[in-house]
Amino acid sequence: MLTLERFTFGVGDRFAHQASAQLAAFEKTAALGVDVIPVWNKSNREHTFVGSEPQSVHDAAAAAVRAQGWTRPWHVDADHIRLDTVDRFLTCSDFFTIDVADSIGQPPSDAHVDVFLRRHPELQGRIEIPGIDQPFEVTPERLAGTVRKYLAAVEEAGRIARHIAVRKGGSERFIAEVSMDETDAPQTPPELLMILAMLADEGVQVQTIAPKFTGRFNKGVDYVGDLEQFDREFRDDLAVIAHAVRQYGLPVNLKLSVHSGSDKFSLYPLIRKAMRDTGAGLHLKTAGTTWLEEIIGLAEAGGDGLELVREIYAYAWEHIDEFCAPYAAVIDIDRKKLPDPTAFNYFTGDDVAQAVRHIPTNPAFNAHIRQLLHVSFKVAAKQGDRYYDLLKANSEIVGKNVTENIFDRHMRPLFLDA
Ligand SMILES: [Zn+2]
Repeated sequence: MLTLERFTFGVGDRFAHQASAQLAAFEKTAALGVDVIPVWNKSNREHTFVGSEPQSVHDAAAAAVRAQGWTRPWHVDADHIRLDTVDRFLTCSDFFTIDVADSIGQPPSDAHVDVFLRRHPELQGRIEIPGIDQPFEVTPERLAGTVRKYLAAVEEAGRIARHIAVRKGGSERFIAEVSMDETDAPQTPPELLMILAMLADEGVQVQTIAPKFTGRFNKGVDYVGDLEQFDREFRDDLAVIAHAVRQYGLPVNLKLSVHSGSDKFSLYPLIRKAMRDTGAGLHLKTAGTTWLEEIIGLAEAGGDGLELVREIYAYAWEHIDEFCAPYAAVIDIDRKKLPDPTAFNYFTGDDVAQAVRHIPTNPAFNAHIRQLLHVSFKVAAKQGDRYYDLLKANSEIVGKNVTENIFDRHMRPLFLDA
């Protein structure tokens, strides 16, 4: 069986030029004794915006792995696929993020709900789970309500997993993640337990599951929410997963997946401590913030690189509504804190780097500029070879930023710091 390793970290490489620089951060982590396995992810939506094919992600990763002699595993994630988008990822992905959020709340068949409820008397009443202080108290109404809310989504996950399995030659030949994060309401730990029981009944060999957690996970900036509540929820979810593996025979390596939207720095120490206390694994997916390191590197390079960054910012600023619309639920931009393009043109390369580079304690950091640029990668895509040639010409300074970002700001606090 193709098994997902204990620690995996998802990186995006929108323009397929930074796989080597990304991999260098995993090499540095491995050299310090912790194996974190890279997973390159890119969603159908990003491929559509950039005009790329899924195969390009695999090819860029494979080239980096070859060039750097990476001997550990690596994966390519068909990120947030559904039945209507999965097919073009089948040959080039070994990891599938099965997104069934759209089916949450769809009415399941009454007969299926009844079958589930009859099979699972243990999900009613007082449920004691090792590692959770306060036992869950589940009324029959609450259980039935949760099953009605999630069963159609779980059945859809089963349909997609079987669709992939038939085409890959078996369910043991790919890694299945089930994601329910792109929805309005978070899933509570008792709901996660019921969802895992449904997934087991549906026969989905889920190796990692991405619930929606409480709080805001905006793209490319830190977590906004109650840290104490997150900590409790995260630890309860870990306990629920360990319990569900024993109780329902799910894959023993089943773990939580955090679709972080990148840079949830204030959560990292909590996640690290919870992993240490429990021995749990983790998949942490980041968004395509590597592209922002490209911007930082090109700005620092000055000359034509800085000029292009200024043009991209000006275009993004003028088309802010268009670029923000698809991400409205996951960005918070205060337009008053965005310099207009004329003011931005006075920024030196170093000013731009400091505004965009995510060091929250730096007074020059500007989360609004960062978020606007983050959602404006289409502008760079439209530049085509002009953009790619600048990346190649400045690969050293860009790559340095890419590696340092992943290693210093992600690998260290998640996997290495004491
Ligand atoms: Zn997600």
